[in-house]
Amino acid sequence: MGAEILDGSGLAERMKEEMKARVAALKARGIEPGLAVVLVGENPASQIYVRMKKKDCETVGIKSYEFLRDKDTPEQELLDLIDELNKDPRVHGILVQLPLPGHIDELRVLEKIAPEKDADGFNPINVGRLVAGAEGMIPCTPAGVMELIKLSGVPIKGKECVVVGRSNIVGKPTAILLLREHGTVTICHSRTTDLPSVTRRADILVAAVGIANFIKADMVKPGAVVIDVGINRLEGKKVAGDVDYEGVSKIAGFITPVPGGVGPMTRAMLLENTLRAAGK
Ligand code: NDP
Repeated sequence: MGAEILDGSGLAERMKEEMKARVAALKARGIEPGLAVVLVGENPASQIYVRMKKKDCETVGIKSYEFLRDKDTPEQELLDLIDELNKDPRVHGILVQLPLPGHIDELRVLEKIAPEKDADGFNPINVGRLVAGAEGMIPCTPAGVMELIKLSGVPIKGKECVVVGRSNIVGKPTAILLLREHGTVTICHSRTTDLPSVTRRADILVAAVGIANFIKADMVKPGAVVIDVGINRLEGKKVAGDVDYEGVSKIAGFITPVPGGVGPMTRAMLLENTLRAAGK
């Protein structure tokens, strides 16, 4: 028997339907939720993401403000723009599309975003709140991962959870969220010795590595919940996850597809963060 597919696209659509009603309620209170998206340079993948985010906003009725800046934009100019957006009452969420060009200090930019408008949850203040268990903005991809695990119906409490990848935007915050739900959490990375023996322990396995088809069937415990965060562009327009879907779906209990798993949920959580900020 094959794994049950965790349909991120379907779940994201249902969430967006619900959000439409919340937007209408906010508008009735005189609040038009607004998301500012800042893109510096012409990274093709970033351009696609920004376009999709704009479309999502339109779908649920969030007003999106786009700020496209030249790749040579000085850091100070970007910081000044964020300052303006922090003060702008029409803007409830601010997102600076990463990566930024090399001459700009990413952390300085993220620190500049007002924590209560930090729609991506990358400001270290929000990272600190997450670690401390305080209320704050939760990064979108890890929040989406958690929703997909919940969709499986498998309780996290007491389970062996293994996250492969320790980036600030995916791996680390995902591990913290799993810990918050009382999982027994292991974080793996490129220096982990004998990775398969660790991943095989996982009742819940999250792959955020950035290598196409990296997690093979013999690295997965039968029946496990497997969440594939990877988006790896192959030749042409094809996209592959970090999990070898073909092999792993034969032994896992639940699996997310790529595309159609974590990606749409990440986008839905961005809308969710913006709406929460607008409702405050
Ligand atoms: P990073 O490149 O920042 O991090 C990758 C992590 O994988 C690192 O911690 C690295 O370890 C680890 N790693 C690399 N090689 C190995 C290995 N051989 N064995 C074990 N661990 C290894 O990537 P991101 O976290 O930003 O993204 C991960 C993937 O998720 C990418 O494919 C990205 O495109 C995708 N992504 C998808 C999103 C979505 O919406 N679905 C959103 C964001 C990202 P070390 O730290 O030691 O170098």
